[in-house]
Amino acid sequence: MRLSLNAITDELRRLKASGVDRVVVSDEGLAALRKSFSTGAPREAAPEPPAAQPPARVPRPAPAPRAEAAPAVAPPVVSLPQGDKKTRWDALMKLVVEDPVCRAKLRPGKKVVLGVGSLDASLMFVGEAPGAEEEVQGEPFVGPAGQLLNKMISGMGLSRGEVYIGNIMNWRPDLPVGTDGVQTGNRPPTDAEMAHCLPFLRAQIDIVSPGLVVALGATAAKGLLGPKSFGALGEVRGRWHDFGGRPLMVTYHPSYILRNPTNKTKRLIWEDLLKVMERAKLPVTEKQRGFFL
Ligand code: URA
Repeated sequence: MRLSLNAITDELRRLKASGVDRVVVSDEGLAALRKSFSTGAPREAAPEPPAAQPPARVPRPAPAPRAEAAPAVAPPVVSLPQGDKKTRWDALMKLVVEDPVCRAKLRPGKKVVLGVGSLDASLMFVGEAPGAEEEVQGEPFVGPAGQLLNKMISGMGLSRGEVYIGNIMNWRPDLPVGTDGVQTGNRPPTDAEMAHCLPFLRAQIDIVSPGLVVALGATAAKGLLGPKSFGALGEVRGRWHDFGGRPLMVTYHPSYILRNPTNKTKRLIWEDLLKVMERAKLPVTEKQRGFFL
């Protein structure tokens, strides 16, 4: 399979170099590819080993080759009307819903996902991309990772409605669907896909104007800090960075905790959140300081 994958990749590279930006795949070809590269994992962010001990990576299904790997148009220019936050957010939502690339990436019946929460939030969380539940409901973090994120937020003494939650991506990165028409696997977004959605995330950050931003996982961190800004998450996690003049904390994605539900991993993410609470001047009780010890 590796040889076939290499052969396909080489041919796609060759076509791209010769100016081809789109490849048409016949139904039979697609069926053969699906058969060869079928996947079955639930929506997870990219595996994130703890900083201190880069360990066994959790294998994720090999992404299937895609006929159209990246948006072939320039990233959107976001121009919003004057007005209050709600007026500007509504205008942004309309732009995202009408964006030709977002529209092209949505399967029938599925929704684009922007952000959710308070437009006056002083704290903003940024995740990776919608998963199966999110593209149905049109809201970020409503699946299992979202439930854990809600717990993390309430552990900080806040509620989901008091913070703002967004994603790097506004659509669920596609993989071939099964014969039942359902996509069961997930893949991380490509750099080009992230570049397309980033103006929409920047606009949300401008509107909400949070004092602090928290990047959840490697994809969120790469989206905000730049795709080539680091190699392993451990290089940037647990430390303060800058995003357009705002302090940015990088921590693990909740999916990482779902895959590694030990007190040790929970404590690592919790220590990052304690730093956020301190910088945000949120009250921190002794009980909170001792969580997961
Ligand atoms: N994971 C994310 O990163 N974002 C979501 O909205 C859901 C799961």
